[in-house]
Amino acid sequence: DLYNTVQDLKGNIRVYCRIRPLFDAGEGSAVDFIGDDGSLVVVDPLKPHREARKIFHFNRVFGPIATLEEIFKDTQPLIRSVMDGYNVCIFAYGQTGSGKTYTMCGPSGGTSNDAGINHLALNDLFHISCSRKDLMNYVVEVQMVEVYNEQVRDLLTDDFSAAKYPFKLLFLAAYPNHTSSLPDAKTYVVNSTVDVLNLMKLGEMNRVACSTAMNNQSSRSHSILTVHVRGKDSTGNTIRSCLHLVDLAGSERVDKSEVTGDRLKEAQYINRSLSCLGDVIAALAQKNSHIPYRNSKLTQILQSSLGGHAKTLMIAHISPEAVSYGETLSTLKFAQRVS
Ligand code: ADP
Ligand code: MG
Repeated sequence: DLYNTVQDLKGNIRVYCRIRPLFDAGEGSAVDFIGDDGSLVVVDPLKPHREARKIFHFNRVFGPIATLEEIFKDTQPLIRSVMDGYNVCIFAYGQTGSGKTYTMCGPSGGTSNDAGINHLALNDLFHISCSRKDLMNYVVEVQMVEVYNEQVRDLLTDDFSAAKYPFKLLFLAAYPNHTSSLPDAKTYVVNSTVDVLNLMKLGEMNRVACSTAMNNQSSRSHSILTVHVRGKDSTGNTIRSCLHLVDLAGSERVDKSEVTGDRLKEAQYINRSLSCLGDVIAALAQKNSHIPYRNSKLTQILQSSLGGHAKTLMIAHISPEAVSYGETLSTLKFAQRVS
């Protein structure tokens, strides 16, 4: 179909940009123009007459009034391809406060049932599974982990004793010897979207508890919800695939003169892992022969779902306020580089 043709031409990587609404209209918005063709023009709201306007191009740009349903409509073919055996990664990238969690988990950040991409994607997945039940028998399993300072933690651990914080650290299996890159992570079989939402709530609670115990902010870690799908048809043919839904740590650069110690170390880990992710996706987009997966935990975990026949969607989020203009430019540059 058309979507797959386009996907093949583009090396299976799509990049969207989402702009959240302006919270304080006082200083104006950095967004000057949004084109139907995926172009976006930004300008420093404080110097609109002096500074040059900058133009960026993505597969799609969603403005402040775009609804989640609009964004999801464009994402649906990816979910369908998971059920056909393709691995898929969907990333939310952007500075803290730009709307990553809003997009992935919905307005309440995953603590109640309002829909984010996660919710809609799983609804679709179970819907497809149900509609094909005469042809295919699917088993769906879920894992949820976070990566903080290059350590991987299980967010679905069922050991709730406070003494266990910070949670069990996970070992990473060498791909492709294992079917999961995290064979140690707690894995739940799920039968409905509600099952997954309940696990996500547990994961989110654990994430907050863990970051509180460690005196850091949960937005300083990458959270990865992995949905493993196995399908078997009546002739015994099987498919195996997975969908990773990734809410990345805030991409903001910290001022080295203002932070020290743990906060500085944390910021350096985040910068490094995000730039490794950028390197991997850019290398894939350019069809390089060497893809530097080994440089970060995040890219190692996601290796089997980045490249090859896998499909990747990066949603770059920007905050339109003047104070965020520097970060907005760096987010747009990151996103443009990988597209
Ligand atoms: P991040 O996860 O990138 O740190 P959040 O998703 O927590 O950012 O969003 C920051 C704030 O902005 C939250 O209060 C959220 O509800 C709000 N917000 C984000 N995106 C939108 C949007 N598209 N429409 C309305 N409010 C939004
Ligand atoms: Mg967030």
